[in-house]
Amino acid sequence: MTASRILVLNSGSSSLKYQLLALGGDGGGNGNAARLATGLVERIGEETSRLVHEPLTTGGGRRERDGRVADHDAALEAVADELAADGLGLDAPELAAIGHRVVHGGLRFTEPTLIDDAVLTEIERLVPVAPLHNPANITGIRTAQRLRPDLPQVAVFDTAFHATMPESAARYAIDVRTADEHRVRRYGFHGTSHAYVSRKAAELLGRDPSETNLIVLHLGNGASASAVRGGRCVDTSMGLTPLEGLVMGTRSGDVDPAVVFHLHRVAGMDADAVDELLNKRSGLVGLCGDNDMREIDRRIGEGDEAARLAFDIYIHRLRKYLGAYYAVLGRVDAVVFTAGVGENAAPVREAAVAGLEGLGLAVDKDLNAVRGHEPRLISPEGARVAVAVVPTDEELEIAEQTYTLVSAR
Ligand code: ADP
Repeated sequence: MTASRILVLNSGSSSLKYQLLALGGDGGGNGNAARLATGLVERIGEETSRLVHEPLTTGGGRRERDGRVADHDAALEAVADELAADGLGLDAPELAAIGHRVVHGGLRFTEPTLIDDAVLTEIERLVPVAPLHNPANITGIRTAQRLRPDLPQVAVFDTAFHATMPESAARYAIDVRTADEHRVRRYGFHGTSHAYVSRKAAELLGRDPSETNLIVLHLGNGASASAVRGGRCVDTSMGLTPLEGLVMGTRSGDVDPAVVFHLHRVAGMDADAVDELLNKRSGLVGLCGDNDMREIDRRIGEGDEAARLAFDIYIHRLRKYLGAYYAVLGRVDAVVFTAGVGENAAPVREAAVAGLEGLGLAVDKDLNAVRGHEPRLISPEGARVAVAVVPTDEELEIAEQTYTLVSAR
């Protein structure tokens, strides 16, 4: 196959993020992928839409375009124009496929999947369990199909990596018939990141992934932990939706479910109001008004008590999951930090494992202070359990999975 470019699309309700990569053949492959361009259209449908496009190989600088972009069709056309201006048009024969990030694959989709009408219908059937995400992903797919109907379109699911969870971890302890009828179970998210980071971490340790046990902490604005045994996920902190688990930028993570009935009964809040509270006005932002760890760190330095408490709650929850997944796995080879907070916030990494020498866990202060874009160890030499920072790359993972699928056809 000569075509080696993959366009990766991540379509949100009012945004479209994209990356164009070259894989295989001359483009690289096996981690040698070349990133050709990246960008984002935000506030689609509003007067203040903006497109930011960055060619990465032509030496041209970042370009911005302001002004209303009516819908996702118009957004993708604008992206195609920008790419064409760099000689990377979507009609180029080098373009092999479009890879779509799809948030929810339910129980049906556990592998990257070539999209046809039946697959699209099935993704639509999952909208009730992913009302905030799947509709936007479907829009992205339809838009891309209209622009390049002849091109293979591949869906890569956020839930897929977690499909290996045993029933003991995937089921909630609620009435089985009700759960099954309404597909209520734990699916997990951020799977593309957990999969990529697990593989890279095993590489860093010089171990075969099938013999490596990891606790992966994906700490971005959304955050999730996973327990990975021999390359397969055995538990993860997000559940039916991305609300469960760790304290996040704007999401509460775990709460007693009775909080929901309580707020309904005493505060008259309906389901949508509680949904909005727990997803958008909770977590770090709900606790202290900021969801950016840099800002929280700065405020702590100034003696701000609300920021300190928010940090402490965040760390307490993180340590609970670390301990839980240590017990789930029995033997842990490494604890791996990734995503915006995990890759950059040294104080979070330090606090997460402080005092856990008894479990073989520690960070070396100097190594922890090093900044960089490469996977690296931050535990002291000879530590029983490695602690690592492994930058995630969901677009690369989607591109590689898409490329592997279409080149095997
Ligand atoms: P998402 O993809 O979930 O939107 P990211 O993985 O990009 O999020 O993470 C974004 C978060 O990372 C920010 O909200 C901020 O808290 C944190 N972050 C980014 N850079 C730094 C930094 N240099 N130091 C500390 N935290 C950082």
